[in-house]
Amino acid sequence: MTTHPSRQSTATTDEELFWETRALADLTEAEWEALCDGCGKCCLHKLEEEETGQLFHTNVACRLLDVRSGRCTRYAERFRWVPDCVQLTPAEVRRTHWLPATCAYRLRAEGQPLPDWHPLRTGDPRSTQRAGMSVIHWATPERRVRRLEDHILERAP
Ligand code: SF4
Repeated sequence: MTTHPSRQSTATTDEELFWETRALADLTEAEWEALCDGCGKCCLHKLEEEETGQLFHTNVACRLLDVRSGRCTRYAERFRWVPDCVQLTPAEVRRTHWLPATCAYRLRAEGQPLPDWHPLRTGDPRSTQRAGMSVIHWATPERRVRRLEDHILERAP
């Protein structure tokens, strides 16, 4: 969802390891943004069955997502273009049930460590992609899709 710093895996102090040592609510804005691994999974459309509330994940990307980079093309002004885009906050992360199991915010909210491919741990901004955890190889741009129902995934990404 945003850009990532080029941190080195040699970081050792509590300050440098903020993603391990501090609660989500205590992160600065820059740290919060850096926690996103850039996978793009949360930027895929979902369908919810009205009667049951069951959620269906699709491989269709929000129109603002660049499916070659996995990045939002209008991150700073995304709400102007996509009013129902969700602003993640510590409370929202706890409340929401659709963040992928690999999402760094979800992992930290559950008290789990970041995976070893996370850019904060590798120091490589492209390590999410290199680990095959990004949507870039299988997401479909919204403009090429007629019916979301035809793009439902068999399991959550
Ligand atoms: S799923 Fe989580 S880590 Fe991945 S892009 Fe969305 S907010 Fe960032």
